[in-house]
Amino acid sequence: MLTVEVCSQTDTNPITTQITYTNKLEYVGMSFKKMKDKTKIIIDVSLPLNEKTLIYPGNVGLEVEAHHTMPDHATHLSKITMGSHTGTHIDAPAHAIPDGLTLDKIPMETFIGKCRVMDFTSSKSSIKIEEIKAKGAKVGDRILAKTTNSNRGFMKFYDDYVYLDGDAADYLADLGIKLFGIDYLSIKQRGSNDHRPHTSLLTRNIPIIEGLDLKDVSEGEYEIYCLPLKFTNIEGSPARVVLLADTA
Ligand SMILES: [Zn+2]
Repeated sequence: MLTVEVCSQTDTNPITTQITYTNKLEYVGMSFKKMKDKTKIIIDVSLPLNEKTLIYPGNVGLEVEAHHTMPDHATHLSKITMGSHTGTHIDAPAHAIPDGLTLDKIPMETFIGKCRVMDFTSSKSSIKIEEIKAKGAKVGDRILAKTTNSNRGFMKFYDDYVYLDGDAADYLADLGIKLFGIDYLSIKQRGSNDHRPHTSLLTRNIPIIEGLDLKDVSEGEYEIYCLPLKFTNIEGSPARVVLLADTA
């Protein structure tokens, strides 16, 4: 059975958009039949990309300059310079594991499907193993961790951002989750020699999303659509990430 969904956008709010699947079609035999309409909320949890985008200290800055301008040229065309870990982005295994998989080798199924947003806004300094266990993380979960980082915002860099503790990373890796996301530009403590938040997950080919903005998202179940750019043979890429939620 083949199902086709055609979406129409009904609201243009930049953060939260409501769409109605007005033409959900189910392929039955030789023809499509219209299925029941359903409405979902789209929540954009990606950081805006511009020259004010917060950059992790030492990483490549984001610059946009005009390459062609009108009226000298028929069209306007920009040149963009940025690091592969700019804004909301994916860490693929090759980011921290020698000979690890590059982003293009990760199946897209990893990035699309059911996900759980877990609220760790009461976590102090790091998300700990007990806190992860208390949320009931399960094998195959796509987990997005919301912390106080989202509430502080992304206008200036904070050294004391909330990160994933090494033991918690080991636990999630051993458990066999599918994807882990966090709302800051790094999953590990700045300057720490405990690299397990990267290495434990990435060794198991569990990609990491960094730089999520989960300010407007409550704990619960969503559908995630995380679409990294299709660069080949590199260790990461910016991604557009949206969550779909059922309307009440
Ligand atoms: Zn990264």
